[in-house]
Amino acid sequence: MKSKTIKDKVVFEGYGIHTNSFSKLILEPYENGIVFLKDNVEIPLNLEYISQTQRRIVLKKDNVQIETIEHLLSVLNVLGIFDIKIVLEGDEIPILDGSSVIFFEKIKEIGLVELEKEILEFKLLEPIEFYLNDSYIYAKPSEKFIINYAIVYENHSFLKSQFFRIEINEENYYNDVARARTYAFEEEVNELRSKGLGKGGNLENALIISKNGYLNEPRFLDEPVRHKILDLIGDLMFLNRPFIGEIFCIKGSHKLHIEFVKKLLNDGLGGPIIDINEIKSLIPHRYPFLLVDKVVHLDENKIVAYKNVSINEEFFNGHFPNYPIMPGVLIVEALAQTGAIWYYKFNPDNRDKLPLFIGIEDVKFKNQVLPGDKLYLEIRVLRSGSRFIKMYGRAWTERGICCEGSLIATIK
Ligand code: ZN
Repeated sequence: MKSKTIKDKVVFEGYGIHTNSFSKLILEPYENGIVFLKDNVEIPLNLEYISQTQRRIVLKKDNVQIETIEHLLSVLNVLGIFDIKIVLEGDEIPILDGSSVIFFEKIKEIGLVELEKEILEFKLLEPIEFYLNDSYIYAKPSEKFIINYAIVYENHSFLKSQFFRIEINEENYYNDVARARTYAFEEEVNELRSKGLGKGGNLENALIISKNGYLNEPRFLDEPVRHKILDLIGDLMFLNRPFIGEIFCIKGSHKLHIEFVKKLLNDGLGGPIIDINEIKSLIPHRYPFLLVDKVVHLDENKIVAYKNVSINEEFFNGHFPNYPIMPGVLIVEALAQTGAIWYYKFNPDNRDKLPLFIGIEDVKFKNQVLPGDKLYLEIRVLRSGSRFIKMYGRAWTERGICCEGSLIATIK
């Protein structure tokens, strides 16, 4: 599908539900992804900038922090807006009425423009299940985006459990989800405030639940579970692609949602963006020296790929006969090949030329890479010209970072 941005600026003002501070939020048309801007610091929408997931999502970069982004992201996701600049003058995205309906209506009113840019759907390839303490997510392939959500409060005298199932599209979202407000239990309000949370929460922007019922008028009898769906759609925006698949979530939280997104991205479950056949059409490396199996993320600044490391690798014969360990220089080479895939993808006119290393800087090796490892290879492009590319690379396995550093290559 084509990405969209907004036709014109949209401004929102109001208090934050957690900080109780007043903020001005300006959404601007943009064509280079989803970027937050505060105090001249740009924070791209990326998992690595998430600093907190308790009760809300907080982004942080260079000591600049933006709180409670999820309700806005939920609307962007549903409307297919993958390019927008989100400027915040203040600390927290205004909570408005506690739901996302005001964001939805105002953005629809200003209108959207379709960009030339193609956004690949994250179409779930295989079933996946994921636990975190007593919360659980299962997702399976589907032609549609469907969410089944259950909340369970075994010990609560009123809420007990709620379940809601919905196919996510603009119309259903607007009718059944967008108006659902965030909620809190009356008895936890003081505890939350002592932790510095919910300081701006009140009966105007949250549904409050007492032991006997709702303290304010609910918009739906099952408003809490619908709000959880709203939050999940916002958190899925960290895929930076529209999700297609059916999700079953029980007792979810922002933490569970975000761990789920991490797993989807790390396992490349949205399909090989570039499979091995296309990799071979892009870079000249061949057996036994082709060190990238699949690309799972690609955009104008970044590429993530992986290599399945097997005991059958040639180099394990000699490195070392009694202790097979992947040579560090080959990890660097695998990173360089990943960078070359990025380069040729975006510079098709140079595909007949060879990529050659001219330098590496500050390369450090940490964890070892062993037979059986899935070796992830991530490259961020620092600078790129027609014959030159400087990039920062890092490689990791499930045990952590194995190698990181800067790589410079020329194209001859
Ligand atoms: Zn929420």
